[in-house]
Amino acid sequence: MTSLAHQVAVLDANDPLREFRDQFQLRDGLIYLDGNSLGALPKATMAAMQDAVGEQWGEGLITSWLGADWVNSPRRIGDKIAALIGANPGEVIAADSTSVNIFKALGAALSLQSGRSVILTEEGNFPTDHYMMQGLERLSGGGVRSLAVPAGDVLGRLEDDVAVLLLTQVHYKTGAMRDMAAVNAAAHKHGVLVIWDLSHSTGAIEVDLNGSGADFAIGCGYKFLNGGPGAPAYMYVAQRHQHADAVLAGWFGHARPFAFEEQYDAASGVERFLCGTPPVLGMVALEAGVDLITQADMRDVRAKSVKLAELLIAQMQPLCTQYGFELVSPQNRKESGSHVSFAHPNAYAIAQALKTRDVIGDFRAPDVLRLGLTPLYLRYADIVEAVHRLSEICVTRSWDRPEFHAMSAVT
Ligand SMILES: *Cc1c(COP(=O)(O)O)cnc(C)c1O
Repeated sequence: MTSLAHQVAVLDANDPLREFRDQFQLRDGLIYLDGNSLGALPKATMAAMQDAVGEQWGEGLITSWLGADWVNSPRRIGDKIAALIGANPGEVIAADSTSVNIFKALGAALSLQSGRSVILTEEGNFPTDHYMMQGLERLSGGGVRSLAVPAGDVLGRLEDDVAVLLLTQVHYKTGAMRDMAAVNAAAHKHGVLVIWDLSHSTGAIEVDLNGSGADFAIGCGYKFLNGGPGAPAYMYVAQRHQHADAVLAGWFGHARPFAFEEQYDAASGVERFLCGTPPVLGMVALEAGVDLITQADMRDVRAKSVKLAELLIAQMQPLCTQYGFELVSPQNRKESGSHVSFAHPNAYAIAQALKTRDVIGDFRAPDVLRLGLTPLYLRYADIVEAVHRLSEICVTRSWDRPEFHAMSAVT
């Protein structure tokens, strides 16, 4: 064995999370570096879906709202997610999509901030975050102004007209991570509320919403939580803000949904931020994913993610020198989440060529090859092998075939 192979074998043998990989359906030979975009399938999800469809729906029919406790799934799963992100039971619901929850959180935060009209974010934030802000601005007829400033200028723009700051903690493209406690403190000093987009945080890094004084947060169910394609998202509302207005005031957020009253009367707890009927089948898959990751210690997850990233960056060094890859993620792992991105002028074609070698990462426009590190099912040996396959693609220039340059609708 080479000394690298030996080192990596030791790391894998001593990995406290090594047993988790077998809980996922993953084909032999496949190296999946895109679990930050769509998490892998937990084996338990298959059985849970079979039961939900065949038994709960097929046999139980409508009685399963109570019999299988479908009705409480948003709160039940929310409480489990709360444990991963430093929130208390009763502060998180699983519901809707991340995009919709961004809108709900913006509306709720604005309702607490009379006299302030600016909703602020950083340039380069995930597009849906910008779009939701811009839509709210249009809806408000000029009452609310959506503003994006360069990332480095955000804290300096926290003035008295700012109602809400919306930031993604771990940047979707670069992986750069914001210091949540520092941002919350700076914002609160100016009376600004903060909404955190945790799409690339939850299940990947340690998050302490309450410890850092967070106000609102939202995030994805299908990334590091392994909830399945299009899984329901989640929304956190700190206890002290739960009297805020639920702008998408649906009947599931009513204090008494089954009284069928025509006058809206908001539920008192976090349930008021529910809109309509929960997507039960999606909730079942989400819960299976959440149940699996809550068995892991997030400190182990983070520690392994850091080590995987360090190994990846070290292995990529020769390719950076010889083939023009450029690390765009922070060098310092303390400032970085759980994916590592490299810029390359041919990143798109390279990502496509990699797929044919059974290494799945992804491309983010205009020139980023993004490699997601999911500690529950990646091995250190996978990182070494992935870079080995990538270097073969570079040596042979096999990426430079016409079929790898054709842009597809989903990247
Ligand atoms: C993935 C992601 C989203 C996705 O939102 P959806 O409504 O689920 O499509 C939102 N924000 C960030 C930062 C993301 O990374």
